[in-house]
Amino acid sequence: MPVIEVDGLVKRYRDVTAVDDVSLHVEQGQIYALLGLNGAGKTTLIRMLLGMITPTAGSVSVLGAAVTAGARSAWARTGYLVEAPVAYPELTVRENLELVRRLRRLPGGTDEVIERLALAPYAERRARTLSLGNLQRLALAKALIHAPDLLILDEPVNGLDPAGVVEIRTLLAGLAHQHGTTVLLSSHLLAEVARLATRIGILHHGRLLAEQHADQLDQHRRRHLHLGTRDDTAAERVLQAHGYHPHPAPGGGLQLTDEHALARPDQVATVLVQAGVPPTRLLTEEEDLEAYFLRIVGADHG
Ligand code: ATP
Repeated sequence: MPVIEVDGLVKRYRDVTAVDDVSLHVEQGQIYALLGLNGAGKTTLIRMLLGMITPTAGSVSVLGAAVTAGARSAWARTGYLVEAPVAYPELTVRENLELVRRLRRLPGGTDEVIERLALAPYAERRARTLSLGNLQRLALAKALIHAPDLLILDEPVNGLDPAGVVEIRTLLAGLAHQHGTTVLLSSHLLAEVARLATRIGILHHGRLLAEQHADQLDQHRRRHLHLGTRDDTAAERVLQAHGYHPHPAPGGGLQLTDEHALARPDQVATVLVQAGVPPTRLLTEEEDLEAYFLRIVGADHG
């Protein structure tokens, strides 16, 4: 049974359709990333998963229970972080966590979660004195304190420095792999998400445009062969005569997207050498992740 099941979900605010007929399934142990630009509808979707706002249409079920306003059966097994990280500013990191621990009636202390989120050096500091990155860590500690089966995180790496991003990535991957924790997170950074998520859903203008396994991303990204020569015009003629379709590359040189050129760059080189215009450069380039993401999203505009 999927841990999260969303079916035909819609949220309309007067003339804005924030979430438009979204259906998705998240399986146990998956790290599912909702990827989208600002305003794509990520936060609205996440709030509906948590029963914080009521959908205009459609249904959500989490950990086997339907999510409706006031239905809290799944909450004991869910940890979440939505929008800006919040904490009681005058309480210390430890006191903030202690409060959550008591509210959740958890045995033991807060040392373990403080350690796990690398918050030990700040444990006795008031929350209002923390950097955004450490405040985000505290918010994650609150989400994780009860070892939930499901974590729902809106932009969890927002405000973290590169080392912090790596730490959170390692932490989440460890939870999913070792404890079977299911994670649903949102982000606007595909490159970041590609390293962490097992499955990615691209959300744009409230619609789920594409869904794919992270390890399939490579297959969907465009590739081309980039050629440098001393005489691009001559090289272009030679390649055309051999059935290739070269075109000028943006920064000089030639580009080939023909499948047989990508599969056998050595043959391209041989043809050019034999014609007396040997390549000075020959390399396969792959569309970077952000370019890929923008292309998918751009497809929506026709
Ligand atoms: P961001 O990364 O900027 O937070 P997001 O992907 O989380 O973006 P949402 O916050 O879900 O996007 O917003 C989706 C759309 O719904 C936006 O156009 C937003 O202006 C609109 N919206 C969200 N909440 C409301 C509201 N309470 N009333 C009216 N419009 C809203």
